[in-house]
Amino acid sequence: MALRSGGAGLNPVLNYIDGQFVEAQSGTKFATINPATGTIIAQVARSNGDDVEAATQAAIKASKAWAATSLEQRVAWLNTIADALEAKSEAIAHLESLDTGKPISLARRVDANRSVSNFRFFASMGADDEVPIFSANGAINHVHRTPVGCVGLITPWNLPLYLLTWKVAPALLMGNTIVAKPSELTPLTAHLLAQTLDELEFPKGVFNLVHGYGPEVGQAIVEHPSIGGISFTGGTSTGKIVAATAAPMFKKLSLELGGKNATILLDDAPLESIMDDVVRASFTNSGQVCLCGSRILVHESIYEKFIDSFTAKVSALNVGDPMDETTQMGSVISMDHRNKVEAYIKLGLEEGGKILTGGTSSDAPVANMPEDGAFLRPTVFANLSTSSRTATEEIFGPVVTVHSFATDEEAIAMANATDYGLAGSVWTADIERGHAFAREIESGIVWVNTWLNRDLRTPFGGVKQSGVGREGGRWSMDFFSELTNICIRQP
Ligand code: NAD
Repeated sequence: MALRSGGAGLNPVLNYIDGQFVEAQSGTKFATINPATGTIIAQVARSNGDDVEAATQAAIKASKAWAATSLEQRVAWLNTIADALEAKSEAIAHLESLDTGKPISLARRVDANRSVSNFRFFASMGADDEVPIFSANGAINHVHRTPVGCVGLITPWNLPLYLLTWKVAPALLMGNTIVAKPSELTPLTAHLLAQTLDELEFPKGVFNLVHGYGPEVGQAIVEHPSIGGISFTGGTSTGKIVAATAAPMFKKLSLELGGKNATILLDDAPLESIMDDVVRASFTNSGQVCLCGSRILVHESIYEKFIDSFTAKVSALNVGDPMDETTQMGSVISMDHRNKVEAYIKLGLEEGGKILTGGTSSDAPVANMPEDGAFLRPTVFANLSTSSRTATEEIFGPVVTVHSFATDEEAIAMANATDYGLAGSVWTADIERGHAFAREIESGIVWVNTWLNRDLRTPFGGVKQSGVGREGGRWSMDFFSELTNICIRQP
């Protein structure tokens, strides 16, 4: 897809404030890079607090009229946006692949599809929303939802439009206006969303988009006294800053943070039939999915067999050009991130780990890729302690550690031995056992015999340092609304 230039095109990538595409007030820009080639894709507005102020003022101005629309009107808007995005599915997949280095097939299957279905799903939730009524003591209680007002949405780079629309759709549905900031590493599809809303003549000022760096734009959004709620997805260390900034203002806060998830194979796990799923759980999007299983715990009775089969399958993964339809793993998000992941690979060796396949880009290069492409082969470590830094800190790249255990109790203790608690999966031939085991894992989500199997009605979020609060289904609607109880007694 050719990148248009100027105005509301894709180069430069501009802010979208009060229904207008505008440069950053400072006039400065930064480049967004294709991590698979190291080349510049587009120049992006480098905004600061002044742009956040303008976006917030636009959002406040638009608040009253948007909140006054009926739920049915907002449901209709979500469906209209879903249709418009669906018509651009291929462009979404292409831009996402270009901006992140992920395989085009993955960008189609996951990013483009989910960006559309987020709008459709919340439209259906809105259509089915029932206002609870409770009667007691001769009085009737009516629970009403009112919008929070203007909300700030801050998102990471791994699933750019997927995660942004996961917040935009329920925020709009509940009658809020928005100031959104996508990751500085992946601004393209957020810009496409703004263009789409503009083409649809969506009411001005309801959705505002400000591009730029976290400390310059994200921080200004979190600090802004008129932004009443912050939905943040990103790393745990950034989440701490967001929480510390927002808490004294008593803002509504949803934090979806990092993970170090366990994939647990019990002694009766049917290895042959689950192996592809375990590989997928490990290396989808180069391991850059917050839900990826980066620690694999295997019962000692099947450990050797697992290692042989897993290592063979991982070594055979097709790593390379993200635009090639047959590629299974593209680049990681940036050279900086590759350096970070490689530092962990070196640390794993220092901590006594043994690499079964993969390694740093110099030890295990990906053939025929540009020198400036941020490629890494999928890397599997054995022999590491479950308390090592490599096995407990979030790497967020294509690196997994494999450990053996003797009893279920030991596996549960190993699974829970991190500061994180986002997700996990348990693999067993016995569903009852899997269910009981899953309840022992300190985590927001546990899958039994499946992975990344998402029903959008379910609560999504983490415990411990993986986050605060839940999104998804009615939990998103609760976050993006205030509940007012009106208790009426017959005179
Ligand atoms: P990050 O924390 O570096 O950045 C996330 C967003 O926060 C970006 O838009 C960034 O610009 C912004 N930001 C940075 N500093 C800020 C500040 N001071 N105030 C406000 N905003 C600020 O995370 P990342 O590297 O973009 O994403 C990777 C992380 O996201 C991983 O830890 C991953 O596990 C996590 N993640 C979590 C989920 C989830 O649902 N739990 C989903 C995807 C990714």
